[in-house]
Amino acid sequence: ICILGLGNAAEPEYVKYKDPKQPVAARVNDLITRMTLQEKIGQMIQLDRTMATPQIMKDYSIGSVLSGGGSTPLPQARAEDWVNMINGFQKASLSSRLGIPMIYGIDAVHGHNNVYNATIFPHNIGLGATRDPALVKKIGAATALEVRATGIPYVFAPCIAVCRDPRWGRCYESYSEDPNIVQDMTEIILGLQGDIQSNNRKGLPYVGGKDKVAACAKHFVGDGGTTKGINENNTVIDMHGLLSIHMPAYSDSIIKGVSTIMVSYSSWNGEKMHANRELVTGFLKDTLKFKGFVISDWEGIDRITSPSHANYTYSVQAGIQAGIDMVMLPFNHTEFIDDLTFLVKNNVTSMDRIDDAVGRILLVKFTMGLFEDPMADFSLVNELGSQAHRDIAREAVRKSLVLLKNGENQTNPILPLPKKAPMILVAGTHADNLGYQCGGWTINWQGFSGNNYTRGTTILGAIKSAVDPSTEIIYRENPDGDFVKSNKFDYAIVVVGEAPYAETAGDSQTLTMLDPGPNAINNVCKAVKCVVIIVSGRPLVIEPYVSSIGALVAAWLPGTEGQGITDVLFGDYGFSGELPRTWFKSVDQLPMNVGDPHYDPLFPFGFGLKTESVPSIVARSTSNSVDARPYLLFIMVSMIFSFYFTGI
Ligand code: BGC
Repeated sequence: ICILGLGNAAEPEYVKYKDPKQPVAARVNDLITRMTLQEKIGQMIQLDRTMATPQIMKDYSIGSVLSGGGSTPLPQARAEDWVNMINGFQKASLSSRLGIPMIYGIDAVHGHNNVYNATIFPHNIGLGATRDPALVKKIGAATALEVRATGIPYVFAPCIAVCRDPRWGRCYESYSEDPNIVQDMTEIILGLQGDIQSNNRKGLPYVGGKDKVAACAKHFVGDGGTTKGINENNTVIDMHGLLSIHMPAYSDSIIKGVSTIMVSYSSWNGEKMHANRELVTGFLKDTLKFKGFVISDWEGIDRITSPSHANYTYSVQAGIQAGIDMVMLPFNHTEFIDDLTFLVKNNVTSMDRIDDAVGRILLVKFTMGLFEDPMADFSLVNELGSQAHRDIAREAVRKSLVLLKNGENQTNPILPLPKKAPMILVAGTHADNLGYQCGGWTINWQGFSGNNYTRGTTILGAIKSAVDPSTEIIYRENPDGDFVKSNKFDYAIVVVGEAPYAETAGDSQTLTMLDPGPNAINNVCKAVKCVVIIVSGRPLVIEPYVSSIGALVAAWLPGTEGQGITDVLFGDYGFSGELPRTWFKSVDQLPMNVGDPHYDPLFPFGFGLKTESVPSIVARSTSNSVDARPYLLFIMVSMIFSFYFTGI
């Protein structure tokens, strides 16, 4: 790091902002005084990696680059390829006049999901079912390591939406319909960014080191409350409702030192959030004292179109004035630069507002050490998809499963299943499809189908490795009824659900299962004792089938570690998950959330049958099962004691 610039040949100039001994605030102020308006505006821009070139980065002093959902993925790239790509942008930024490093961001929303062979954790809805914030924090720490392994210091996560209507295509990105659970799960921020050193940081951002990443709580605010769950639409709710349902997780995130917050595409009572100064500046920055930077959503400023006569200059003014500090993807960055320059020169947008925005961006960059250590290296490459992270993901899958039915009235439980049986049937659209298991935001924005994209274990693969070698497994995606009847299956496992989707593409007013899933349930469950596993981003229409189903499990979108499901199915672990949202009977009941006056669910919020672990090959019944592990532990401890005291 060159602290001493070249003033004149005899006496090098001391450059305060380059001195790591200076307090961060002093460095920020010093740097701002040296910046031109164009350099300031450049810092406020985040470009997609396919638009950014080294020349543009340098010439415009661009503040940030991203791999967004909508950008072309790099599916087969190795960690090294990412590191090299990111360092290429960084070198260009460092060669700009003031050498301000750029910050690269990515949507790592259930692990490092853009990257081939990364560990894919359950989507947030499944994590909500675990009710285990400490586990979610561990997932955050593992994700940070995998993201840093590819040279990336910034993630657009967590999504702390409180999804109030499962028809919303992003419902699986929400931990729960219950604000308390979403609030608890902001613990992930401590995993991503590291534990804050003091609880009195007054809204300052925090990133604990080069094995941590800056987080982004999104989407501020009310994204999960839109009418009929229509994505990016209007949330109609009074201030009290907004503050009590959608806001609490933001207060928590700020207390936990979240570095950035993303604004929602949605509107609140008809006003676009991207233009809402009262909430973005008034509430978030002034009342909650958030000191990190506010980032727009992808082309979010371009979408400020009300009043309907608004031109682009109006949209830029409205968004920046509302309090947006960094603009993710101005559709045309040169037009954005021209317009904002024009607005400042004509005193429409104040220089104070620009300095506030740039100051916040620089604060995050200084805080996380980007000025001292801007280049990515290969030191963490082995963290990507490591066994330790897969073990955490597998634990999360186990804990996320919600047992909704287990035999009739619990008297004759079907689960856990015996590992040893002469012949079993595995069926359904989702039994052998890793892409379906991972859902949207996996390698591609909209997810993928099939098994050959990334490393992981399908549910069928997990069943094969869990059962006794003598057990014969017959797999048919959609077996016909006669086939099922003509075989003597001991039991069947039918895996059905939704095909992957992301954002608006996932909005659904019907919430039905992917065909021929329902057909497979009918053909199998009427003929043989069956367990149905639903792989989905939300509750689906299931009521018509429940009576024919022996046991029913909600598995959400579990990710790459399918063994987490068989761990519980075959009794090595008990079921412990609880519904993070209400399971409706029919879609005409929606929206329906716990506490509503006419609450009449199929399975209520919080529901989830429990089983104990039965660590034997031939499973016993649930109610009178005996968990052998405490006894084993007792015997082991006794042995250690007797060895210690008697030497025997
Ligand atoms: C989504 C954000 C995401 C961004 C970048 C937008 O479409 O709403 O959640 O972070 O794209 O991929």
